Order: sequence, then C-alpha cells, then structure tokens
Amino acid sequence: MSKVALVTGGTRGIGAAISKGLKEAGYTVAANFAGNVEKAEAFKAETGIEVFKFDVGDHEAAEAGIAEIEKKLGPVEVLVNNAGITRDATLHKMTWEQWKEVVDTNLSSMFCMTRPVINGMRERGFGRIINISSINGQKGQMGQANYSAAKAGVIGFTKAIAQENARKGITVNAICPGYIDTDMVAAVPEKVLEGIIAQIPVGRLGKAEEIAAVVAFLASDAAAFMTGSVLTANGGQYIAN
Ligand code: NDP
Repeated sequence: MSKVALVTGGTRGIGAAISKGLKEAGYTVAANFAGNVEKAEAFKAETGIEVFKFDVGDHEAAEAGIAEIEKKLGPVEVLVNNAGITRDATLHKMTWEQWKEVVDTNLSSMFCMTRPVINGMRERGFGRIINISSINGQKGQMGQANYSAAKAGVIGFTKAIAQENARKGITVNAICPGYIDTDMVAAVPEKVLEGIIAQIPVGRLGKAEEIAAVVAFLASDAAAFMTGSVLTANGGQYIAN
C-alpha cells in the first residue's frame, strides 16, 4: 500500500507542484486548501488528487480535517506544511489582524497540523515532516515583520521537533524557497519584482517544481539521515550557510 502524504495549501502554487510530485513518486496524496473551492475542484479534476478544505491555523479545524483524511485514506506518513500567506505592511502601519493572520497561518499551523499526526508517526516508527519556510525568514524582509517572524519560527520549530523525534524514525526538515513564480509573487508590484529579480544571481524566479523536487527527496528513504536541516533553494539570492 502506498504511503499517505498530506500537503497543506496543496492545490495551488508551490503546494500544487508538491502534491503532483509526490503523487508521481507513488504516494496517495491529500491536498488541503483554505477557501478557493473553484481552484481546488479544478486541481482535483486535473490530477485525481483528493482535496480537503480547512484552516490550518485553527487547531480544531485542523484536527477534524486530519481525522477525515486519515479515515478516508489511512494514516498520514508524510506531512508537508506548505500553506502560507502574506499580509505585507511596515510595522508602523501594520494592524493586529495582519500580524495575527500571518502568524496563525504560517506558524501556528505548524502546531495545529503536526500535533495530531506526531503520535501516530511515533507509534509506527516512521514519519517525514517537511516545513516550508522562506528566504525572508532567514534574512528578514522590510514590510514583512509578521511573515519574517513566522517563517523564522518555522525553522526553530523544525529544529526542536527534529531532536524530539529522531529516535522514532521521523525526520523533520525545512525548506527556504527564494522567490518562486506563483500567485503569491504575482501580487508583488511589477517594479518591486524587477528589483527582486535583479538580486537573484541565476537571473530568474524559481519554479514551483524546483521546490517540489526538494520535497520529494526529503520524503524519500534516501533522506533518512537528514533531519533538523534547513535547505535553501533561492537561485543564490541569499547564501545562508
Ligand atoms: P499561493 O498563494 O500560491 O498558495 C497558497 C496555498 O495555501 C493555497 O492552496 C491556499 O488555499 C493555501 N492556504 C492559505 N491559507 C490557508 C489556510 N489558512 N489554511 C489552509 N490552506 C491555506 O502560495 P505559494 O505557493 O506561493 O506559497 C506556498 C508556501 O511557500 C507558503 O508557505 C509561502 O509562504 C512559501 N514561500 C513562497 C514563496 C514564493 O515566492 N511564492 C517564497 C518563499 C516561501 P486557497 O487556494 O484555498 O486560498
């Protein structure tokens, strides 16, 4: 029987590429999404991948969503915490709502999603948890105090639970993408984007598939000795370690 992989925010952008990549690698994939039903249904029709709507930042909704997925497909053995949002503003103009929405979706989701699956993984002696952070969690980004803080938090979370679960056959790793060509980046004003591309040594935006390939590797048996690591895929824009 094929392993079940759950990809949050798995119906669009980087998440959609991850879902497709894992399906190609032989996993039974469950793709979660927040509210864009039209996009999710189109994704399901195109790929045959099951889609599940719930808010990853709401722990009760996440618990119920995971219970539904496990009942339908079986225990989650690979969890990709990919769902994320931006609500950009400089701190002196940022609202509490902008702060909270970003921290809930990008960081509290790590708890909400991982907590319900971790005991099952520990009992079975196998698990792969792959968390999508960001270049801006590594280097900080003006206008994104909320997002940079949340994504830096994802790295701390990854390192802590990697240590807690290393003896149980569970690996926990983070990926920090640079700027990838998705709806999230399409929301960046054109002039700003031109400036960003000028700072990327490879001279272009990344592709969602280029992040999906890293996820597929981390999920595989070949990556069993990698845990607590932070992988950078950013076209050389920020060389962190
Ligand atoms: P998109 O905006 O293209 O897609 C976001 C996905 O997340 C959608 O499927 C969306 O669902 C889902 N989502 C958003 N909020 C929630 C929520 N509360 N609960 C459940 N699902 C939710 O994002 P990207 O593909 O660009 O980004 C994916 C991840 O990669 C994010 O964590 C992002 O921060 C990170 N990242 C992206 C970079 C980039 O350049 N694009 C760079 C570095 C990191 P729905 O369709 O229903 O809205």
